[in-house]
Amino acid sequence: MIVEAVFAAIFGLLFGSFLNVCIYRWTRDQSVVWPGSHCGACGHPINWYDNIPVASYIALGARCRHCRAAFSWQYPLVELLTSAAFFAAVYLEGATYLAAKIAVFAWLQIGLIFADLDTRLLPDQFTKGGIALGLLMAVLAPGQQGLFRLLFTEAQPWIMSLMDSIFAAVFVSGALWLIGVLYSKVRHREGLGFGDVKMVAMIGAFLGFAPTLITIFVGSILGTVLGLGYIYLTKKDPATYQLPFASFLGAAALAVGFWQR
Ligand SMILES: [Zn+2]
Repeated sequence: MIVEAVFAAIFGLLFGSFLNVCIYRWTRDQSVVWPGSHCGACGHPINWYDNIPVASYIALGARCRHCRAAFSWQYPLVELLTSAAFFAAVYLEGATYLAAKIAVFAWLQIGLIFADLDTRLLPDQFTKGGIALGLLMAVLAPGQQGLFRLLFTEAQPWIMSLMDSIFAAVFVSGALWLIGVLYSKVRHREGLGFGDVKMVAMIGAFLGFAPTLITIFVGSILGTVLGLGYIYLTKKDPATYQLPFASFLGAAALAVGFWQR
């Protein structure tokens, strides 16, 4: 298991490197395929030997080789987090569909956490694309079956898993959307973006009904406690500062996803 897990960790570094490109470009409506990697400051193309996850960042002293512009510490952090998640998934579950499901889920959450922190945007590629991936993985690696296990005792596990995923994706996000609409009607300000609703639908597709409710609960507590603490410490104006709620939601989803497996 440990050999496969080390391979998974190396793949995780590469997928983490690609995730950095996705976070940066999808939040700016750019293609992730073209053009190739280039410095955000001077536009100089980045050679492959300067684009090795984590290692190049350290070797270059966190700067562009050409214009010496500083590269964000987020790049190696995203690579290391993705690598750690891939390692843990395969170490715990072996080279299985379930490990792939956990790894894909973690990749999406890390992407949304940092997209939200950077830009307060949640790209459709992560949310809508993630819903499709979640439903696919519900079939390949059946997870939660919820109430459907009691209703349809004869059905195959993947059918019940898929039904629970669809149920969670539609109803939990639908309820959240309704709360958001009512809130904005009453308070005349937006409390919840439609990106958050799509993100919850994606989490529902992966985790199923009950774990998605737990995720929202944990994420809301995290957001309230850490968010208000942050506003207090940095003396930001709570009326105008927009909390990165999806970042807390993503962290909660990661915790529940690993705990649930
Ligand atoms: Zn540069």
